[in-house]
Amino acid sequence: MRQPEEKIHNFSNALLAARSQVGLCQRCFHLSSDPECEICRNDQRSKDLICVVADSRDLIALERTREYKGRYHVLGGLISPMDGIGPEMLQISSLVKRVDQASIKEVILALTPSVEGDTTSLYLARLLKPFTKVSRIAYGLPVGSELEYADEVTLTRALEGRRDME
Ligand SMILES: [Zn+2]
Repeated sequence: MRQPEEKIHNFSNALLAARSQVGLCQRCFHLSSDPECEICRNDQRSKDLICVVADSRDLIALERTREYKGRYHVLGGLISPMDGIGPEMLQISSLVKRVDQASIKEVILALTPSVEGDTTSLYLARLLKPFTKVSRIAYGLPVGSELEYADEVTLTRALEGRRDME
């Protein structure tokens, strides 16, 4: 428990990658051993709703709530000029392409309430609003807290309480 958070993150990422044979879904970039992940292949899930998350751990946290019935898009991180991470290093152009090519009713941004999360949300809202409605989950979590550690009730409320981006 005394390990720095970063180290634990890297370790859990490595575990997840190992379990899925280090593959990514071609559509949403979630960890997957098949070209398309189970969620993208599931016809029961609505195709016109995309929830954007920073990484697969956040996706798994949201799946635990069993509330969300749409698809996902995994960015692979957040925009962070301090760490030299620009938009071009994330799965952003692939997201815009998805939204542009299919009729998407709503894009839900489920990014942490941090400087990086806010920066990325504003950037994505500006890009995507010409195409579709963009909302952001409104969770009652302290600034900087990690989505993956939030409990199911908090995440369910966060999804239900999402607000349109201005
Ligand atoms: Zn997928």
